[in-house]
Amino acid sequence: MSEYNDKNVFNQIIKKELPCNEVENNENSLSFEDINKQAPVHVLTIPKGKYTNLESFASNASNEEIASFIKTIVKSAKNKDLLSSGYRVIINSGSDGNQEVPHLHAHVLGGKNLGPMIKK
Ligand code: 5GP
Repeated sequence: MSEYNDKNVFNQIIKKELPCNEVENNENSLSFEDINKQAPVHVLTIPKGKYTNLESFASNASNEEIASFIKTIVKSAKNKDLLSSGYRVIINSGSDGNQEVPHLHAHVLGGKNLGPMIKK
C-alpha cells in the first residue's frame, strides 16, 4: 500500500484549505463539482478519511465509512437529478487506471448519454 500524501488537493479541500462547490457533505464523505468537467454533470465523491485508493479503502476503512461512500455517491446522483436518466460511476486506481489525485475518489458522470465505457 502506498503511503498517504497529506498535500494532495482533495485533503486540502477536506481541510478547507482549498474551496470546492459542494454537492453533498456528511460525517464521513464529501461530494463536490469536478474542476474540469468531462460531462454536463461531473461530481467527485471522496471519503473524508485518508485513503489513497480503492484497495487501501477496502482494506482499512470501517464498514460505516464504506457504506457512507456508496450512499454518498448515490445521494450526489440524486442531488444532481440523475436517478431517472442514469449516470456512470468511475474509480480510477493506480497508474494503469490513470489516477491523478492520490486520495480515493469516485467520478459521478451524467447529464447526457455517455456512450460506450471504453473507446474501441
Ligand atoms: P483522477 O484522474 O485522479 O481519477 O481524477 C482527478 C480529478 O480531480 C480530475 O477529474 C480533475 O479535474 C479533478 N481535480 C483536480 N484538482 C482539482 C481541484 O483542485 N478541485 C476540484 N474540484 N477538482 C479537481
